[in-house]
Amino acid sequence: MSAAVPLSGRRLIEVALPLPLFKTFTYSVEGETRHPLVAGSRVIVPVRNRREVGYCLGESDGIALGDAEPKKVIDVPDASPAFRPDLLHVCKWIADYYLSPVGMVMRAALPAALGASKRPEPAVKSRRVIRLTKELPSLMERDKIFSRSPQQRALFEMLESVGGSAPVDQVVQQLQCSDAVVQGLVKRGFALISRETTARDPFAHRARQAATTHAPTPAQRTAIDALTSAAPGTVALLHGITGSGKTLVYIEFLREIVRRGRSAIVLVPEIALTPQAVDRFRAAFGDEVAVLHSALSDGERYDAWLALRRGEKRIAVGARSAIFAPLENLGAIVVDEEHEASYKQGESPRYHAREVAIVRARESGAVCVLGSATPSLESWVNAQSGKYTLLTLPARVGGGALPKVELVDLRLTTRAAHLTAAEKQLRSVISERLETELRERVAKQEQVILLLNRRGYASFVQCSNCEWVAACPDCSISLTYHRAPDRLVCHYCMHQEALADTCPQCRSLTMRQRGLGTQQVERMLAERLPSLRIARMDVDTTSGKWAHATLLDRVEHGEVDVLLGTQMIAKGLDFPNVTLVGVIDADVGINLPDFRASERTFQLASQVAGRAGRGPKGGLVIIQTRVPTHHAIRCAVTHDYHAFVAEELPGRESPAYPPTVRLANIVFSGAHEIATMELAVAAGKWFEKALATPGINGIELVGPAPCPIERIKTRWRWHLLLRATNSAALTRVARHFLTSFDVPSRGELRVTFDRDPVSLL
Ligand code: ADP
Ligand code: ZN
Ligand code: ZN
Repeated sequence: MSAAVPLSGRRLIEVALPLPLFKTFTYSVEGETRHPLVAGSRVIVPVRNRREVGYCLGESDGIALGDAEPKKVIDVPDASPAFRPDLLHVCKWIADYYLSPVGMVMRAALPAALGASKRPEPAVKSRRVIRLTKELPSLMERDKIFSRSPQQRALFEMLESVGGSAPVDQVVQQLQCSDAVVQGLVKRGFALISRETTARDPFAHRARQAATTHAPTPAQRTAIDALTSAAPGTVALLHGITGSGKTLVYIEFLREIVRRGRSAIVLVPEIALTPQAVDRFRAAFGDEVAVLHSALSDGERYDAWLALRRGEKRIAVGARSAIFAPLENLGAIVVDEEHEASYKQGESPRYHAREVAIVRARESGAVCVLGSATPSLESWVNAQSGKYTLLTLPARVGGGALPKVELVDLRLTTRAAHLTAAEKQLRSVISERLETELRERVAKQEQVILLLNRRGYASFVQCSNCEWVAACPDCSISLTYHRAPDRLVCHYCMHQEALADTCPQCRSLTMRQRGLGTQQVERMLAERLPSLRIARMDVDTTSGKWAHATLLDRVEHGEVDVLLGTQMIAKGLDFPNVTLVGVIDADVGINLPDFRASERTFQLASQVAGRAGRGPKGGLVIIQTRVPTHHAIRCAVTHDYHAFVAEELPGRESPAYPPTVRLANIVFSGAHEIATMELAVAAGKWFEKALATPGINGIELVGPAPCPIERIKTRWRWHLLLRATNSAALTRVARHFLTSFDVPSRGELRVTFDRDPVSLL
C-alpha cells in the first residue's frame, strides 16, 4: 500500500466541491465526527481559508494527494447523509453524461439552504399590494380619463391583465414608473393599497377538491394494470390523446405504489401552469403530497425537502428539479408532458429531467411513466424499438370526440376588394370566420382560448423607406415593441429604449410596426368587441408569484370570455366551457433555424387544439396560417400524430439529427468577435484531429460557425456540433476536450458544453 495508508484514527475521504473543476479533493478526518461520515454525506471543509459545503464521495486512497498534507474536515453537519446511494449514483451519472463537475451537480440536487454552510431563516415579508377598485369597460372613457396620464393608464391596464391586484414593488419595477404614478391612481379612486403580511400560496390555501373518483375506462384500466405489474426499471410511454384521462392513470398507478408502502415523484413542466393537475394529486393523496413549486422560499423548500427525506410525505410533485426529491423506496416516477423543452436545464448542469428520471428509476427499482399526447420523437422511437413499453389511450373519455379543426388561409383573408386599409389589417389578424365563431360562442356564454406564441405588441419596428430594423445594441436580435408603457425591449437581455419616430439611418418619418404580438391582438379585440372580457396571459402579465393561478381561477369561474396568450395557455388546462380555440398565427416559429421547429409547431397546435371541446358542448378549433400544406399544420388538423412522425422522421436522417443521432452543442463566447471566432476555429481543429485517432468512431463534426444568434448580452457566440451514433465515444472525446483544450484567459472567453440540446439558437 502507498504512503497514504490511513494512520490509526485518521481517514482520508474524497470530497466533491461545487467548483467548475473536473477533479475531486482529498480531506482527512481525525477521530470521531459529530455525525456518521459515509458516501453521500455533506461535509464542511476549509477551501482557501473559507468554510465550504462539500460532498463526501467515499474513502480516498490518497494517491492524488502526493506528498501534500491533507486539510481536515471541519464538520459533518447532518445526522444522516443528504444523498442516499441511488441519488448519489444519479448525480455521478449526470456528471459523467452531461460533463458537469460532480460537486456542481450535487449542489444543484439539494435545496439552496443546504448549499450554504449556515441555514437561512425563512423570510416572512410584509409587502404593499395595490388593488383596482373600479372597472372601465369602455375604451373611449378610458382614453378620456387617462388622456394626460399615460403611465396611470399603463398601471391600470397592467393590473387589469393580472387579475386586479399585484405587489407595489413588482409593478413599479415592471413598468419602471415612480411611486407617484401608483399614488396618483389611488388618489383618483381607481385603486387601493393594503399591506399583506405573507404571500398567499394558492397550493396551500386552494380549497382542496373532494377526491372525485371515476371508474377507469377499459383503456385506462389496461394502462394502469400494465404499470402496476411492470418490472422494476421499466420505462413506459403513455401516448394518450388530449382529454384521454392520463392523469387518472397516473393517480391510480400511484395509489397502488403508495399501498405497497413505496414513494413516487411526479414531474410537470411548470407548476404554475398546471394548478388543475396538481389539485388532482392533492385531492387523491392529501398530506402525502409535497408540492415543490418555484415560489417557495428557501426555508419552505428546505422544510419540504426534510419532510420527504424523513418519509413524512411520500409523493413529490414539482418541475424539473423535483427529480432530486430525497425519497426512499421509490416505486414510481411520472413525467407528464414528457416532450416539453422545459425539462432541460438551461445552465450547468445541463441535464434533461426526463433522462434523469429514467436513470433514477433504474437505480431505485422504480417504474418510470412518460406521458404525452405528442411524444418527443426520441421517446417515440424508443417505444417503437421496444426499449420502452408503449401504452395507448386512443380516445377521449366518455366517448367525447376530438374537436373539429378548420384552417383559415391568412393569404386569402385580406384579398376581398372592398376592404379598407384598417379592415385589411384587422382581417390579417382576426379572420371573418374566427370573428363570427367568437361572437357566437361568447353570446352563448361559452369561453374562447386564443393562442399567439409571441408576446409584446409588435415583434419588430422597421423603416419602410430604408428597411432599417431597430435592434438591441448588445444582442444580434431585433427589439420587440411593447405598449403600456411604450418602449422597445430585448427579450434576451431586457435592454429597453424609447421608440423613435424618425429612422436613425435615413431620417425619414417612416417607422412601421411589424410582426404581431399578444398585446396588439388584445388591443384589436378590445376595439372591435368592446364588451369582451379578455384575460391576457404571457410572461408580461404573469411576473407576480401567483399571477398564473389568479388568471386561471378567473377563467374557471367564468369571469373571462377570452383567454389570450402565448404557449403558456396551451398546456394541460381542462376547462369544459371552452368551446372554441383560435390559433391567430400558427406559423410563428415554424421557420426558426432549429431542426425541431416543425415538431414544436405541431406539438403546440395539437396541445392548444386539445383545450377545446372538453365538455358536453363539444368544440371547434380554427387555425390561421400562411402555410396550410406544411405537415406540421396538416397533421394538427387531422389530429394525426402518426402521420406527423411518418413525415418528420425521414427529415432527421440526412442531415442526421435526433433521434437518428445524438447531438452535443459546444458554444464559444467572448467579449471580442475575432478572439471568439479564433477559439472556435482552434477547437474545430482540435476535434478534427481527435476524431481521426484510431478507436474513435461514430462522431461527426459540424462547423465551427457563428451561432444563429451571433451575439447575446454583448458576448459574441460561435458553436460547433458533434453528431454521434456512438454515445460512449462522444463522452470520452468531450471529456478529453473539456479537460485538456486550452482556453486563453483573455477576452472573457468561455466554452459551454450542451449535450442533447433543446435549442441550437
Ligand atoms: P389528459 O391529461 O389526457 O388530457 P385529463 O387527465 O385532463 O386528460 O382528463 C380529462 C377529463 O376527463 C378530466 O376532466 C377528468 O376528470 C376526466 N376523466 C378522466 N378519466 C375519466 C373516467 N374514467 N371517467 C370519467 N371522467 C374521466
Ligand atoms: Zn430609414
Ligand atoms: Zn439584448
